[in-house]
Amino acid sequence: MSHFVDEDPSVYKTLLESTKAIPWKIDWNTLTFSYIGPQIKQLLGWEPDTWVSVQDWAARMHEEDRERVVNFCVSQSQAGVDHEADYRALTSDGRFVWIRDVVHVVRNPAGEVESLVGFMFDISERKQTEQKLIDLQKELETLSFKDGLTGVANRRMFDSVLEVEWLNAKRTHQPLSLVMVDIDYFKQYNDHYGHLQGDDCLKRVSQALTGSAARARDFVARFGGEEFVLVLPDSNAEAALAVAERCRSAILSLQIPHEKSHIDQLLSISLGVGTAIPEQDDLLTDFINKVDRRLYQAKQNGRNCIVAESTVRK
Ligand code: GH3
Ligand code: MG
Ligand code: MG
Repeated sequence: MSHFVDEDPSVYKTLLESTKAIPWKIDWNTLTFSYIGPQIKQLLGWEPDTWVSVQDWAARMHEEDRERVVNFCVSQSQAGVDHEADYRALTSDGRFVWIRDVVHVVRNPAGEVESLVGFMFDISERKQTEQKLIDLQKELETLSFKDGLTGVANRRMFDSVLEVEWLNAKRTHQPLSLVMVDIDYFKQYNDHYGHLQGDDCLKRVSQALTGSAARARDFVARFGGEEFVLVLPDSNAEAALAVAERCRSAILSLQIPHEKSHIDQLLSISLGVGTAIPEQDDLLTDFINKVDRRLYQAKQNGRNCIVAESTVRK
């Protein structure tokens, strides 16, 4: 090898200039480029002789990457540590290309930093793949928090949201209300009209419920089957009862025929409502169970009604 180097160092230049990676060298004392591979022209469009100082390098970097990358590379170089950095490099026609710069710190015999040598790699394809994966991940997250049939939040999302609102209510000492909704005689609906029409009905009910809870932090989810739930932060018992009443009449107003229902042969819902200003030791499950028992009571009371704090609304 050493024989090879001594005899014809230009072979190295040829090799360096025929790779896809772009070699470069920076003199540390003057912070100027002593070399940059001619391939830079092909990748970024800038002529090699326009790469004079490290300022040219920094200036041709996306402004969102600049500070982070320049600070990192300078501090690593000062410390004499080899490093690499990813950033978006500006092309001469105003586009950006993702680059990975891999940097080796060269020292003189006294151990002082003398120069930096490195390669720039075009990593735009890899970055595109990464971005696609991030997009897919986001889509998956949305899907896994959304009920597939109705498009409202699913049970899992409800659990997370209620947990957060419960802790928040503890902290702020504001009332938190919960409304549980169950469609009346829905088994008979399915049996009579078929499962597909049942599905359609669930969609319409979820939309009507969503429209009945108007405030920004009000939250509607499908709890399961033909049951829905509303989380109403900063809402007292009176406000919650008003929302529940809006829900009950909104479903009746849909005028969905339900021949097998004893409620005017229209689709209707039963509701349980509860409000809490939770203390430190109060359990969320106790609160949920209390509201669930009220929903059960509403069924016992003949359906199409609301059971709230010691009130029954027909
Ligand atoms: P109640 O008035 O006491 O609530 O009686 P119900 O018939 O509504 O209650 P039950 O729990 O006995 O039946 C619920 C039905 O909801 C059973 C099931 O067929 C139906 N159901 C649950 N999930 C779905 C769904 O995704 N699509 C359809 N079409 N029906 C569903
Ligand atoms: Mg049910
Ligand atoms: Mg039901």
